[in-house]
Amino acid sequence: MADKANNQLNISAAAGCNLHCVYCKSPVDAAKMPPLADICAQVRAQRIKTVCLGCSGEATANPDFLKWLGTLRNAGVERFTLSTNAVALSDAKLCREAARAIDFFAVNLPSHRPEIYAAITGADKFADAFCALKNLKKYGALGKLSIAHIVSGCNLGALPDFADWAAKNFKGLLFVNLVFVHNAGRVRDNAAIVPKYSEAAVFIKLALAKLKLGGIKGVVQHFPLCHLNGYEAFSLEFQRRRDGQPPVEQDMPPRARCAACKKCTLAASCYGAREDYKRIHGLRELKASSLDPASVPELLY
Ligand code: SF4
Repeated sequence: MADKANNQLNISAAAGCNLHCVYCKSPVDAAKMPPLADICAQVRAQRIKTVCLGCSGEATANPDFLKWLGTLRNAGVERFTLSTNAVALSDAKLCREAARAIDFFAVNLPSHRPEIYAAITGADKFADAFCALKNLKKYGALGKLSIAHIVSGCNLGALPDFADWAAKNFKGLLFVNLVFVHNAGRVRDNAAIVPKYSEAAVFIKLALAKLKLGGIKGVVQHFPLCHLNGYEAFSLEFQRRRDGQPPVEQDMPPRARCAACKKCTLAASCYGAREDYKRIHGLRELKASSLDPASVPELLY
């Protein structure tokens, strides 16, 4: 059933996906896709104005995707967010219509290198995803586009190069989000997919620096602050806390018990440690910080 969070309704708009990512944390269960009529009834009853399509499943894989937007708008929805792998938006007509109707695009791009993209997704569709991003730019949606890049053992070494690629091709987009992979769904405790924080940190920091130098806003999500020395301000959790919001989304699993986190001055602004990571690598890498969060300078763009 659709769930409501942060004053928006997050819905599954498709009972399947056109990719098969090795780290997908919520593989689609067709039985969970609610009927559109039920969603519309909820929209009307709760006077919902914002809907996010794609909380699981690939919304654009639904052949009635555009019709859904129209029906939901008639039910009272005023703003749409689309979380998508974008492959279907390589269709220029579909992309043009989506660019008109959608207010915010969160495009999940696993890699900018075709061979890594294929290894992660099980599909030879990088060219379609790249075409879709260029279509969004062509149809004036760059200013409402973010690219989410899942950081995993599959693409770690290519992160700095990805930052250069993003700056070269999509300057003007809202931001790039480097999201550390979860040990959930299809990952099944695979250490080749979930790198150690200590191994990932150098690549993440280099990518964030390159994005900044390239004139693109970069953030990192679900990554502990004690491995971001000097780069704490790039943490999405840190930014959310500074803006007075809960640092971690409501649907995240609870924190693991961690002795270092208990003593840490940054704990309230940090993603912290989770059991799914602990199962693979333990928590010995985490080190309590004594840094005053107020001493971290704001990022300027
Ligand atoms: S010790 Fe824990 S709370 Fe402190 S920065 Fe590291 S993960 Fe975050």
